[in-house]
Amino acid sequence: MATADQMPSEKLMFQLSLRRRGISDQAVLRAMEDVPRDVFVAAEDRAAAWRDTALGIACGQTISQPFVVAYMTEQLQLRPEHRVLEVGTGSGYQAAILSRLCHSVLTVERFRTLADSARKRLEQVGCHNVEVMLADGLNLAGNIGPFDRIIVTAAMTEIPASLTERLQPDGILVAPVGPPNGRQTLVRVQMTGEGLSRRELVEVRFVPALPGLAREM
Ligand code: SAH
Repeated sequence: MATADQMPSEKLMFQLSLRRRGISDQAVLRAMEDVPRDVFVAAEDRAAAWRDTALGIACGQTISQPFVVAYMTEQLQLRPEHRVLEVGTGSGYQAAILSRLCHSVLTVERFRTLADSARKRLEQVGCHNVEVMLADGLNLAGNIGPFDRIIVTAAMTEIPASLTERLQPDGILVAPVGPPNGRQTLVRVQMTGEGLSRRELVEVRFVPALPGLAREM
């Protein structure tokens, strides 16, 4: 198996493509370089791990395109003291990137299979400030939070108040908003003194956020 360290040119191309597409935050670029994406993809996709594409993972879900991971991370404007919530653990890759840039990450996933394997991978790459929880991010217990930042990595038709209510003052949430198979827009919401300010960013494509824990796995 080729490891990330044995693929310098692929990693170089990966960094170049992120920069070319407009990612300029050095800390984000460093995290994208440090976290071995090949650990988070399916074994048969390892050769494609450093390409700027989304890939299929277990349970019919996807690991997001690296550019989208970097862009969403940049939009969060993370600081070392921040506590972050991620809805939609999937492979755990986005959580690993976040973990390098903040105090701690709570990431929730509705598939037990994905939560368990993400937990193992995060341990393997030394992300000790991430907690993976099997939970429905649309219906979290009241005592969870508040958070400085919230990132949703599954498409929602609307951003629920149950999430924005968990933001600290000045907190930022980014989420893909739109119908499951239609046009989705990445939305950035900030909790200001006058209430929520909302900005639409770029068009994206995510698997849908679904209610409840997954029954099958
Ligand atoms: N961030 C992931 C990719 C997310 S794919 C990564 O870096 O790999 C979207 C994930 O959101 C899927 O794993 C899906 O099962 C999960 N999901 C969808 N609805 C959810 C919900 N209500 N609560 C928690 N997780 C959810």
